[in-house]
Amino acid sequence: MSDLRDLYQELILDHNRRPRNFGPLAEANRSAKGINPLCGDKVTVHLQVEDGQVKDIRFEGTGCAISIASASVMTESLKRQTREDAVSLFERFHRMVAPADGVESDPPDMGKLAAFAGVRDYPARVKCATLAWHALRAALDGKEKAVSTE
Ligand code: ZN
Repeated sequence: MSDLRDLYQELILDHNRRPRNFGPLAEANRSAKGINPLCGDKVTVHLQVEDGQVKDIRFEGTGCAISIASASVMTESLKRQTREDAVSLFERFHRMVAPADGVESDPPDMGKLAAFAGVRDYPARVKCATLAWHALRAALDGKEKAVSTE
């Protein structure tokens, strides 16, 4: 178990050091910004959605290792997914890091996203891990206004 934790930690550090899909997206037709005032994280998610599919996704921003790594792994996980699959993954991720009723939940098929399951033990970190996802949700819904975790 501790080996697995180390592995997950390594994945998070790696994605923080070298964020994937980082930068502007010229073809974006939806964007939304997420702000986590508690930690100072700011993440903007750019989406190119066509025919109900996430054709491309990139993000920009600054923040702690958890917020940047989470955004990076999210973009890898969502490319070429349908809008419905993206929303479903958002919901499963949210359930994993912030289980309802204090019941731990490990949804199957989370892939690299499972690396963030450990943040549920650190409530302040949950907002860092879910920030990019809330921005994604807002972008999918076509909301222009920045979303805040507070
Ligand atoms: Zn943070």
